[in-house]
Amino acid sequence: MFGKIRCLATGHSIDRHRVWHDGLNNRARCTHCKMPMIRERGDWVPYAEEDHGGRNRMPHPRTGEPA
Ligand SMILES: [Zn+2]
Repeated sequence: MFGKIRCLATGHSIDRHRVWHDGLNNRARCTHCKMPMIRERGDWVPYAEEDHGGRNRMPHPRTGEPA
C-alpha cells in the first residue's frame, strides 16, 4: 500500500531493468505498485486494456501476461 501512496504523490517509477517490447510499444511495470505501464509517444503511462488492448500486441515473452 505504501507504494501506491508514493505513486500518487510522485508518479510511477518504471522498472527499467525489466522493460520488454510487445511488438508495438515498450512495456514495463512500476517498481512500487507493479502497475503495468506502456511507453506511448515518449511518455510512460499506465496500461489500460480499453485504451491499449486489442491491437495485435504480443504477450510477455516469459510470463505470457497480456499486460
Ligand atoms: Zn506505481
